[in-house]
Amino acid sequence: MSNGEPMSRMKVAVVEGDGIGKEVVLAALRVLDALSLDIEEVPVEIGYGKWKRTGKAITDDDFDIFESCDCIFFGAITTPPDPDYKSVLVRIRQEFDLYANIRPIKGMGSGNNIDFTIVRENTEGMYSGVEQVFPDAVHSTRVITRRGSERIAEYACLLARGNKGDKGKRLTIVHKANILRSCQLFRDVCIGVADRRKILWEDMLVDATAHRLVLDPERFELIVTTNLFGDILSDMAAALIGGLGLCASANIGEDYALFEPVHGSAPDIAGKGLANPVAAILSLAMMLEWFGRAEESDAVHDAVSRVMATGITTPDLGGRCSTAEVAEAVAAAIGKEQAT
Ligand code: ATP
Repeated sequence: MSNGEPMSRMKVAVVEGDGIGKEVVLAALRVLDALSLDIEEVPVEIGYGKWKRTGKAITDDDFDIFESCDCIFFGAITTPPDPDYKSVLVRIRQEFDLYANIRPIKGMGSGNNIDFTIVRENTEGMYSGVEQVFPDAVHSTRVITRRGSERIAEYACLLARGNKGDKGKRLTIVHKANILRSCQLFRDVCIGVADRRKILWEDMLVDATAHRLVLDPERFELIVTTNLFGDILSDMAAALIGGLGLCASANIGEDYALFEPVHGSAPDIAGKGLANPVAAILSLAMMLEWFGRAEESDAVHDAVSRVMATGITTPDLGGRCSTAEVAEAVAAAIGKEQAT
């Protein structure tokens, strides 16, 4: 998933957002500190807190700051109680054309061999924003284009490709083409790209995929699907590996990206030190990989695995540690690794 050569000086817009977004971003930045990389962090305030203060969740000035940075590291934001509110995250994804949403689902600890990635189309489908509101009906238009399907299929095929000596991953193309014409286009384009790229593929209806994910998740290697299906399946998949607190994601475009934990702002546990920071820390590892810093990214993954294996976890995983304690342990594990 690397963006190419390692970048020297990296500049990251940091959005803590609301609720547990603030706590998990702080935790991830603590881990980043331990790597002693030359990264400039630019804080940007957007979200519900800003909306309460100013009436706007995001401004054009915020977009100017984003543009001056290489990418965004994002916590989570709470949706303001405003019927005219348009999702800030959907807007950022569309403005920067972050078309590929990558969500690795990997079991941690012995006995859990689940290891697959969901590649979700991120700019169209049910979230295209094309809606007509009538007095007694609302039409939300599902837009699927050849170009949108082709580029997400190309991205998935890139991830499916094996390195030397390894056969690569089987690509599961998930759709509802027996009912939806838009899904027929998506499926056919994906199959065409996979054949052209010589990727082993299968296709599966979304409802059958949900069923098989629960019964036999270890059979999956790589899934490519449309926006809403990917959104739902990835939250479901999160439950298979211990919950939302473990699931990282990257939103990738041609030359810009946003990295965020899959979970939201979780107001029920906010401010109590209960939030699991692992999803945010693993999102940071995805950012490092995108920056071309594979070694540091691997170091973060290793440190997280080691810390979790010693039972240093937050209450969502049955542990008794706080958000900050887990982050501190991961940072210390990185420090030890670097010292050896
Ligand atoms: P939002 O409205 O911002 O999406 P939400 O509470 O509806 O927030 P999530 O934040 O995605 O949705 O999470 C649902 C529930 O899962 C939370 O209420 C919380 O109990 C749990 N949860 C989510 N993330 C974490 C985490 N990092 N650590 C521990 N528990 C979490």
